Amino acid sequence: ATPIGLLVGTGRGAQLGILIRGPEVLEDTRTVNTVLLDKTGTITEGKLSVSSVTAFGGASRTKLVALAAAAEQGSEHPIAKAIVDHAAALRSEGKLEDLPTPQTFESSAGGGVKSRVLTPARWHSGTPTGVDVLVGRPLFLMQQSIIFGKDQLESFTEAQEKGETVVALAVGGKALGYISLQDTIKPSSAAAIAELKAMGLRPVLLTGDNKAVAEKVAAEVGIAPEDVFADVLPEGKVESVKNLQAQGSVVAMVGDGVNDAPALAQADLGIAMGSGTDVAIEAADITLMGNSLTQVAQAIALSRKTLSTIK
Ligand code: ADP
Ligand code: MG
Repeated sequence: ATPIGLLVGTGRGAQLGILIRGPEVLEDTRTVNTVLLDKTGTITEGKLSVSSVTAFGGASRTKLVALAAAAEQGSEHPIAKAIVDHAAALRSEGKLEDLPTPQTFESSAGGGVKSRVLTPARWHSGTPTGVDVLVGRPLFLMQQSIIFGKDQLESFTEAQEKGETVVALAVGGKALGYISLQDTIKPSSAAAIAELKAMGLRPVLLTGDNKAVAEKVAAEVGIAPEDVFADVLPEGKVESVKNLQAQGSVVAMVGDGVNDAPALAQADLGIAMGSGTDVAIEAADITLMGNSLTQVAQAIALSRKTLSTIK
């Protein structure tokens, strides 16, 4: 039989907007000593906005955005939403007449998207033309045999070093330019992470984004530089959890994305943001309806309190 204390604990959790899959979850929560935190959508709002668009060799920036937006239409990644919104804004400002139409869509978690796109007839003063579009992190494009010139590489590396998320675009196998995006840290994140540390927990940042962005965010929320794991692909997130477990850590993983789901399942305790993707929520033991890291500390405090009451 389930101890009544655990049932009371899950009920108290629900009142706090902390949805606990089952009473036994609280027992696992108590022993957690390491908290892995995804960056985008977990520590940050995950609502990115386009800060600048750079086109290589005099290409049209508007067309670059239009092509990227068409390719991203099928993606639920926050980067995709930002690009689609940016294209819509350009359109309402009258800067962009027609949008290309995506014909195929393929997404690679932690990398980017690939799409065959039909460009508007007006662009060619004739018939619409199909082109292959790749949008994603520069490394993802390089893996698909896209070559960046020295100046191009320097240009986006500089943007990354400033702490921006850079998404590159290639059309027909040629690099066309890149889009820089910015996210904002949730106002509650720094205080919540301080609380986790005060509770004796070790916060670790785990992200698919680049190192410079990751370190900047970590510094702002009080995560030690040696506890920052950047450029981590979805498989890498699972590996990171396993490695820490092999070292004897009891790991809670907090995430929101499709790319976090395997790691959420592997962790001793999986915690999903309520605003997260369905796959993340399904893989998790706990869902935070308030979407705040403050609730991670609350959930752990709740389990500690519940179990000490039972004893
Ligand atoms: P995080 O761990 O911060 O949530 P992800 O693993 O989702 O990040 O993504 C890692 C990187 O992969 C992103 O920073 C971006 O460069 C690239 N990426 C992922 N999905 C997309 C997409 N739909 N469009 C463009 N780039 C993407
Ligand atoms: Mg995320």
